[in-house]
Amino acid sequence: MTPTSIHAKELWKAVKGSLEVTLSETIYNTWVKKTEALSFEDNILEIACVNEHAKKQLEGFCRSMIQEKVNQIGKGTYELVFKVSNSIETEEPQEFKEPLFKPLSKDSTKNGADANSRIQAGLNPNYTFENYIMGNTNRLAYAIADSIANSPGTMYNPFFLYAGVGLGKTHLIQAIGNRVLDLKPSASVIYCTGERFANELIEFIQKKSGKGKYNAEFRKKYRSADVLIIDDIQFISGKEQTQEEFFHTFNDLHMKQKQIVLASDRPAEEFKNIEERITSRFRSGIMADIQKPDYELRAAILRAKRDRSGHNFPNDVIDFIAENVPTNIRELEGSYMQVVTMANALGEEISVSVAQQALSNIVKSDRNKPVNVNQILKAVCSYYSVRMTDIKGKRRTKDLVIPRQVAMYLMYEMTQTPYMSIGELLGGRDHTTIMHGVRKVEEDIEKTMEAKKDIHNIKQFIYHN
Ligand code: ADP
Ligand code: MG
Repeated sequence: MTPTSIHAKELWKAVKGSLEVTLSETIYNTWVKKTEALSFEDNILEIACVNEHAKKQLEGFCRSMIQEKVNQIGKGTYELVFKVSNSIETEEPQEFKEPLFKPLSKDSTKNGADANSRIQAGLNPNYTFENYIMGNTNRLAYAIADSIANSPGTMYNPFFLYAGVGLGKTHLIQAIGNRVLDLKPSASVIYCTGERFANELIEFIQKKSGKGKYNAEFRKKYRSADVLIIDDIQFISGKEQTQEEFFHTFNDLHMKQKQIVLASDRPAEEFKNIEERITSRFRSGIMADIQKPDYELRAAILRAKRDRSGHNFPNDVIDFIAENVPTNIRELEGSYMQVVTMANALGEEISVSVAQQALSNIVKSDRNKPVNVNQILKAVCSYYSVRMTDIKGKRRTKDLVIPRQVAMYLMYEMTQTPYMSIGELLGGRDHTTIMHGVRKVEEDIEKTMEAKKDIHNIKQFIYHN
């Protein structure tokens, strides 16, 4: 090891130590823990990250904090370079080992501010962290929101959250407001949408004929917030006066170290009709997105909904919805209610067949698409990264046996091709081999979530490619 790499490692160890106490546990464990210093020469510190995604996150939201610590601890001004390195152990990352469910802690309706003051603040008292399920696709956003709620105005300011519709933005940012009011009922929390902000400004302008007065009142309201949450901030695009007012509100609150939380349907760099001085403020704090929920999160959300509502909703029906409604969480909840309503209307217990009827418009659209065996083979090969010739070949190593059996199962299940013909397609195998393979996969799906997930993902791939 060269002296510079020893120095690099020592410096980076000290910086990591400092980041560990500053950043929230999840953020530290997910992005920082697995980094290593590579070299430290000519005032350039090279840091290895475990993969491209981790690199992007570190370069994005953590950079300024890391930079500050490196300069402080290294007593100088240094340049940071993040690189992806294969040398870092990449066994299953920490993030996937954590349970999906956060332990239930407080119930915001019973603690802190009463429901009325929450509504006054513009909040829905049910949009709490306790009702929000964390999974792989919203983990970072959740961790940031959780940190902010416990100590607003300190570390992550502003927080800019973006995601497509129905993916949980409003719920999560309102959970911040609700938690703040749990912990400090006297705090001034204001939640509004970009649209409300713009309309209120117009109302004030119309109400007060005396010039300048509207500003005073409007400003008094928004600048007294300890936590200002503006949802759907994209609405201020193209509205100059609203942007002007937002700009000054932002600066004023930020200077006073008051927390600002913004949610948007797109990332900050994708705004067209918002001035640069404003989008640069969106980017000045921490940014996170929420991705479309994966299968596990969809199922977990449905189970939580079932447990809260006390419906007699069997697990196989939950799985059926989770598999067939992949788009967004609002639709997922809507589908759940449609199934409950259909069962009531039919006077039947909730079952997969009731769900099939209730959701026929959604489910059919995929299921009716004709699928052929070649599409299936291609999808399986691509999913497991194996070659077509190998799947059809004779080798029986584990990395081939599973994909081969999955292909058998999918061909049988999706195209009703007879065992014998599947056997021929798969390099001249006997029909009993195919039958055995199909059964094996059926059993795996019954037994393990992993198998169920694989099948689901491959089907999605087939339908959407
Ligand atoms: P957005 O603001 O992104 O359009 P919402 O926050 O309104 O989405 O979410 C839509 C619905 O889905 C709400 O009823 C919300 O409670 C629910 N929801 C979203 N994400 C989650 C989650 N992770 N856990 C539980 N419910 C969720
Ligand atoms: Mg919303």
